[in-house]
Amino acid sequence: AAASSTPAGATETHCPYCSLQCGISLTRKPAGGIRPIVLEPLDFPTNRGGLCAKGFTAAELLDHKERLLTPLVRTVDGDRTSPLRPASWAEALARIVAAVTHSQQTHGPDAVGIFGGGGLTNEKAYALGKFARVALRTAMIDYNGRFCMSSAATAGNRAFGIDRGLPFPLADIAEAAAVLLVGGNPADTMPPAMQYFDEGRAKGARHIVVDPRLTNTAAGAGLHLALRPGTDLALANGLLHIAIRENLVDIDYIAARTTNFAAVKAAVAAYWPDRVERITGVAVADLEQTVRTLAAAPSAMILTARGAEQHSKGTDTTHAWINLALALGLPGKWASGYGTITGQGNGQGGREHGQKADQLPGYRRLDDPAARAHVAGVWGIHPDELPAPGKSAFEMLDRLGTDGGVRTLLVFASNVIVSAPDANRVRRRLQALDTLVVSDIFLSETAQLADVVLPTAQWAEEEGTMTNVEGRVIRRRRAVVPPKSVLTDLQVMRRLADALGRGRFFSDEPAQVFDELRRASAGGLADYAGITYERIEAEQGVFWPCPTADHPGTPRLFADRFATADGRARFFPVHHRKPVESPDRSYPYTLTTGRLLTQYQSGTQTRRLGGTMVPDPTVQLHPDLARRLSIENADMVELRTRRGAAVFRADVTTAIRADTVFTPFHWGGASNANVLTDPALDPLSKMPEFKVCAVDVVRVGDP
Ligand code: SF4
Repeated sequence: AAASSTPAGATETHCPYCSLQCGISLTRKPAGGIRPIVLEPLDFPTNRGGLCAKGFTAAELLDHKERLLTPLVRTVDGDRTSPLRPASWAEALARIVAAVTHSQQTHGPDAVGIFGGGGLTNEKAYALGKFARVALRTAMIDYNGRFCMSSAATAGNRAFGIDRGLPFPLADIAEAAAVLLVGGNPADTMPPAMQYFDEGRAKGARHIVVDPRLTNTAAGAGLHLALRPGTDLALANGLLHIAIRENLVDIDYIAARTTNFAAVKAAVAAYWPDRVERITGVAVADLEQTVRTLAAAPSAMILTARGAEQHSKGTDTTHAWINLALALGLPGKWASGYGTITGQGNGQGGREHGQKADQLPGYRRLDDPAARAHVAGVWGIHPDELPAPGKSAFEMLDRLGTDGGVRTLLVFASNVIVSAPDANRVRRRLQALDTLVVSDIFLSETAQLADVVLPTAQWAEEEGTMTNVEGRVIRRRRAVVPPKSVLTDLQVMRRLADALGRGRFFSDEPAQVFDELRRASAGGLADYAGITYERIEAEQGVFWPCPTADHPGTPRLFADRFATADGRARFFPVHHRKPVESPDRSYPYTLTTGRLLTQYQSGTQTRRLGGTMVPDPTVQLHPDLARRLSIENADMVELRTRRGAAVFRADVTTAIRADTVFTPFHWGGASNANVLTDPALDPLSKMPEFKVCAVDVVRVGDP
């Protein structure tokens, strides 16, 4: 789409979906128009006037006929087989307070849990962490971002002492002479970002994509490495082995800016190229070409995304790519470095402000006494009142309803039955709860199981900030008035806190919450102290860290030093290990999952937009595999793993390896891909193994 200036009477805001946070304008037209709310793209620095199909249709969410407009409770309190019926806010909140009180009196404070979302504004993510610890006094809070790119965050902290998705603006991608993209497909997930890649290629940049599939992104690259799923770490180590063998590493940079290279050099010595070819399926010649391309480029980037990160060895895999970037001397140099492309709209901000089990605002650690003292001071409580770190997302879900587990769970803006791994198991655990509360704008698959459903305001109906993939804090502005019968999440928290006798600690005004967030984050890694709503508007977003009002913000990190104690980046030796499941006689193929152009995450929003926006759930199969299994294009196919089965329409295509099948995870019901996926967790980040498991493929019917 062409860039446009803001129409008269319009409000500038941002798309509700992915981490690109494209700038848009919204205009409410007089009643009776065909399009009561008109959405147009803006020339914002992230999207430069572009939008994808998801963004263009986002205004339909606001007046959608399935929108929840009243709280719902079970007709018979405590009987989840009884139908949901409309209720007043007073009744719904009273049921929640009664459930919270009963669970905590019977089983202790940690019997109540919070499950948050990476789509929540910074204000809400911050308030949710505080609500858990101050109002509910529970340690049990985590969020769906744990399933998104927590492994890259852990590796970033280990290597650089800080985790910011991209440590440089998106525009730098267009300046890089070489880009290696591992396990990402922005051509489908965030199409406007492709203009930076396209611009770079037009200037002669060399692009290489690592992906088991020939995605739309890979198709545009100069070289596509179609590796075997789950072998990214071996690939990265193999590339570093070649770089060392061919004297392509940057010895001066390594000496001046890093530590622990010798250990990594020793570790990758065993990753000789023909061994790596056997493990990964990538030809030695392509390995060598990749290394030589990166090393010869005057500027180069290595970018990872979910394909590399969503593994039970995701942290080590990401660190292997960071090792390669450090050895080539990239981080901190102009138009160069390592970055991870965050997915969810506030995937970055959602993990900075205390919504994680182990974290306090400012990206502080909950087990750090100084951090506890600082945040407790801002909150007006004694540090000893803060709970210890709780359980990570899947660990919490997996213990729901058990002795020592959560008995009453409050879910905010997350559809865990579709987005969590081993979804049948998650469903059973949710059913074992005493009380499930879901706050959402639609009756998602998870909300359908709830005892209490809370209808909340949505993206364009409330003020707030988001932090995008670049670490740019942007302003989500209220463009339309929410229906009178819904509340914002901040209002829900405030009212519940009131009922629990802790209301004085909470504001439901976003601007006040943001000011408090700024104070709580001050001095932390993700320091927002100098960022204000006014500055965000005047400067088209402000990059953190920004510690003071006169600080310009930090678009680029690491130019002079890393955020470690000694200022040096840390190499870390890591080794390939097989995925938890490998193909065998019963499950002879490999399943990998991902995303489609028109759908966003669990599909709660985008599946309701209808028409061509919602294609059939399909599974990609290579023609050789289809022939062997007597499957024809558009046949119905069942995928079976050790955890469950799901049905998809066959998409027979050479865009996938012959030993691997691919399906998106946007659907619930019979085509819920996450009933298939493996919940094995990365020991450090607690990231599940979404991207690889053993699967059988069976034809079950004609088109
Ligand atoms: Fe932009 Fe992402 Fe929204 Fe698409 S989904 S319009 S890429 S913010």
